[in-house]
Amino acid sequence: MVQTKKHQCEKRIYTGARYDWGGHLCSQKGTIEVDGKWYCVIHNPVKVKEKNEAKEVKWARERQERKEKESRLDAERHYCVKLTTEYLKTHQAEEI
Ligand SMILES: [Zn+2]
Repeated sequence: MVQTKKHQCEKRIYTGARYDWGGHLCSQKGTIEVDGKWYCVIHNPVKVKEKNEAKEVKWARERQERKEKESRLDAERHYCVKLTTEYLKTHQAEEI
């Protein structure tokens, strides 16, 4: 297909500024057509979706890591509560 007409990215951007209350269209050139709408490289819905999904995966992993860390700290606290401060100070894990 020969592209004769120049397209503009149809992604509406909201800056939150008072003069831009309705948002404005992205000024980039549309290079990808999705469902009859044109998008620039940055706003390519497929890429945006992929990026969001990657972010979700990352967040889920971080949530999991945080949970495990908290669970570990909690377990340590419960274990140590039976021990005196003096005992903990003299029995710190030895450096390897
Ligand atoms: Zn754009």
